[in-house]
Amino acid sequence: MLDDKDRIFTNIYGFDGPDLASARRRGVWADTAGIIRKGGAWIIDEVKNSGLRGRGGAGFSTGMKWSFMPKPSGLPHYLLVNADESEPGTCKDRDILRYDPHRLLEGALVAAFAIGAHTVYIYVRGEFYHEALVLQRAIDEAYANGLLGKNAARSGWDCDVYLHRGAGAYVCGEETALMESLEGKKGQPRNKPPFPANAGLYSCPTTVNNVETIASVPEILRRGAAWFSRFGRPKNTGTKLFCISGHVNQPCNVEEAMSIPLRELIEKHAGGVRGGWDNLLAVIPGGSSTPVLPWDICGTVLMDFDALREVHSSFGTGGVIVMDRSTDIIYAIARISAFYKHESCGQCTPCREGIPWLARMMARMVEGNATVEEIDMMLDITKEIEGHTICAFADGAVWPIQGLIRHFKPQMIKRIEEYRKKAKAA
Ligand code: SF4
Repeated sequence: MLDDKDRIFTNIYGFDGPDLASARRRGVWADTAGIIRKGGAWIIDEVKNSGLRGRGGAGFSTGMKWSFMPKPSGLPHYLLVNADESEPGTCKDRDILRYDPHRLLEGALVAAFAIGAHTVYIYVRGEFYHEALVLQRAIDEAYANGLLGKNAARSGWDCDVYLHRGAGAYVCGEETALMESLEGKKGQPRNKPPFPANAGLYSCPTTVNNVETIASVPEILRRGAAWFSRFGRPKNTGTKLFCISGHVNQPCNVEEAMSIPLRELIEKHAGGVRGGWDNLLAVIPGGSSTPVLPWDICGTVLMDFDALREVHSSFGTGGVIVMDRSTDIIYAIARISAFYKHESCGQCTPCREGIPWLARMMARMVEGNATVEEIDMMLDITKEIEGHTICAFADGAVWPIQGLIRHFKPQMIKRIEEYRKKAKAA
């Protein structure tokens, strides 16, 4: 279990205040100027060496992403902080925003400096009304105390931070849709290339990072890359906020070391599965878009990027959704399909047409009002959609169905047979 002294997010439960004085007591804003004086190249190298990978779902190396930003060319550079946390099962950035906003602001200043940006936009999910108020208060406090604005934190770097509230569309968490929305347009993903580092917000070089990623950075730099990379397995290093929900005795958010066994995570921090481990049916390990894992795999799998890829799932956001044996797993996945159907932006035909088609088929699968051949047909449709659209939304929409068919096909067939029997008897 991770020692308290190794936790980055020391106020994730809100026992202390979100205000500046409380944040300073927790070590936030401690010698930020000293970090910045070490230079952008040092910061990027240190973040690369720490092994920090994006905590928003994609898991790309943060330092590497920053190094893609071009040299100054007269165009403004932008840092966008993605606080549009909308993935069902995920509620970690929310607790950073409302309980530890100064940690995020300090990270934003350091990251902005590293990529040559004087302007940061924090795009907050519309439903996070209270969180936006707390964050704005923290921004105002930071300006009033010289931590943002001209010569921010006496670092010699000018940095302005603006909070922007979204309007509640899941797809705006996709980085290019987020930029469109920020520009005042409909939140629809852009074709890539060009990638944001070359032509992002207002066609200028832009880096988009998740809240947890950015908020982790100052502490990594204060304690050193070697400290952070001590946790977890190679290429899967560091600490991570996990959100554990569903059929557990104590749902919670908790910071743990990467690569912790899933079973240990659930039993040590969430009070175990309701009714005991043997009552577990399945777990969605990284937010609703990641493929479900059955009981036997859950008993051995490690919670990191590579281990979950090896079992055909994904680490995603670290949003662990636990389902015990009382769950109708076909209904659970059908519900997720209905969510994605609703959230498709509609630009790409496979996504716009295919996902509602799948959602309708899934609704019939819940009843059993389908044929066994349709299960394979559904799988074919998911493969036709995956990788054939502008953004990864459609992949995330079909993965839950692929996971269901991979692990629970016998249950789907049984449901169809039962429906047939009942229909015959009627
Ligand atoms: Fe929009 Fe779906 Fe295409 Fe993404 S994959 S751009 S959400 S239609």
